[in-house]
Amino acid sequence: SLVYLNGQLTPLSDAKISVLDRGFIFGDGVYEVIPMYHRQLFRADQHFARLFRSMRAISLLNPHAKEEWMELVRNVTGAHASDQQLVYIQVTRGVAKRGHAFPEASYPTVFIMTNPLVTPSEDVRAQGVACVSMEDSRWLHCDIKSISLLGNVLAAQYAAEHDAVETIQFRDGFLTEGASSNVWVVRHGRLMAPPKDKHILEGIRYGLIEELCAACGIMLEVRHIARAEVFHAEEILITSAGKEILPVASIDGHPVGSGKPGPVFQRLYAAYQQAKPRPLT
Ligand code: PMP
Repeated sequence: SLVYLNGQLTPLSDAKISVLDRGFIFGDGVYEVIPMYHRQLFRADQHFARLFRSMRAISLLNPHAKEEWMELVRNVTGAHASDQQLVYIQVTRGVAKRGHAFPEASYPTVFIMTNPLVTPSEDVRAQGVACVSMEDSRWLHCDIKSISLLGNVLAAQYAAEHDAVETIQFRDGFLTEGASSNVWVVRHGRLMAPPKDKHILEGIRYGLIEELCAACGIMLEVRHIARAEVFHAEEILITSAGKEILPVASIDGHPVGSGKPGPVFQRLYAAYQQAKPRPLT
C-alpha cells in the first residue's frame, strides 16, 4: 500500500529516511492514530487538535495547516482498499547533525501510513480480556503523544509475556493507564477515571466516553484511583482507537467483578457503536 513521506506518496518499501533523522536518533517526535469507519475519520477534529498540542508541547513547528493535513491523510487512505482503517501520522524534528538540543535548521519529517482497522471480535468482547499490572516507569509528560515509547513498549511486552492483552499501570499506588489505552473502573455502579494530567495520555476516547456517559446517564467521577479500588472493581474497561472499548475479565489472574462483561460496559459499547460514522449512502 502507499504511504506518505515528506511530500510524496510511495510504496511502503520505497519510503526511506536518513539515519540522522532525530526521530531515529533521539525519539524526537510525536504521532497520532486515527480510526476510520466507512471511509470517514472518527473524531478527526479532536485527533488533529491533539497532534497540534503534541507538536506545540515539544516546540515542533507544525508544517501544515489542518486542511493540508486532512488532504494528506485522504491521499493515503484513498489509495487503500479497506473501508475501515487505522491511520498513523508521525512528525519528527527532521534530519540534522547529531546533537541533543534543537538544530538551528531542520525541516520536520512527516510520515503517514494506514492499515486495516480490525476491531475486537464478538467473542473477545463477550469473554473480556486478561490484563496484568505493573508500576508505571514512564516519564512525567505522558500527556504528550511522543514517539519515545520505551516505557510503553516494556509494559506491552510484559502483557505479551503473560498472555494478557494490556498492562494496567500504577504510579505510587494510583492508577494511570494502559501501555496503549485508557483505563476505566466501575465501583458502586459508577464509572471512574484518573484525572487528565501529565500522568496519562488523554485519549480521544476519554472525551468520547465523557460524552457517552452524559448521554446515557452514567455517573462519571474523575479522581485519583487507588490500586485496591481497581482490584475490587465491579468492572474495568479499556479504551483506544483500535480496541474501541473492551471489558477486562481479569487482572493479574484475579477475576474482575463476576469475571464477565458488566452492564456499564454493555451500555457504553452500544453507545460507542451508535456514535461511529455510518456508511455513506
Ligand atoms: N494512552 C496511551 C498511552 C495510548 O497509547 C493510547 C492509544 N493511543 C491511549 C491512551 C488511548 O488514546 P485514544 O483513545 O486516542 O486511542
